Amino acid sequence: MIKTYFKRFNKFKWYKKLALALLYLFIILFIIPQSFTIPVKGATKNDYNPNSFWFYPWGKSGTHKGVDIFAKTGTPVVASTRCFTISTGNNKRGGKFILTIGPKLRIHYYAHLNKIYTKKGCWNNLGEKIGEVGSTGNAAGKPPHLHYSIISFIPHFWKLDNTPQGWKKMFFLNPIKFIEE
Ligand SMILES: [Zn+2]
Repeated sequence: MIKTYFKRFNKFKWYKKLALALLYLFIILFIIPQSFTIPVKGATKNDYNPNSFWFYPWGKSGTHKGVDIFAKTGTPVVASTRCFTISTGNNKRGGKFILTIGPKLRIHYYAHLNKIYTKKGCWNNLGEKIGEVGSTGNAAGKPPHLHYSIISFIPHFWKLDNTPQGWKKMFFLNPIKFIEE
């Protein structure tokens, strides 16, 4: 009786996929501890401006929704949290970029990279090398740096304010608060 049920179960491959997706979700939500490391190897507080988050005016973005960590081209960019890579690519503004998903279902955005060392679907350990600092995208001609943003799906209503685009603070969290030791 149980065996036949099990056989029927196995026929539904989508069910397996769903179970696997739920397992990943469970791991991300409850298992992965939320520990952080600064995403540029060897970087300290002196390598970024503590007031750079939500700096205004800021080019085409209007406000600066992350932090810029300055380092020499080729300096390793490391995973700031334990995470899965959900996307990598190259676009006009961000240049070579990586998107990861980590604890609390938050998205982490790494931009202006010189090189990318991770792929979609890859698991990255805390502090694992995933790229190199560069000046791609709209950072071309500027000092090389990593642009790093943290995006939350869950709206942080208590964070919104009257600054330009202040409502977006519900979703863009201040990464400086997380990376400071
Ligand atoms: Zn930036």
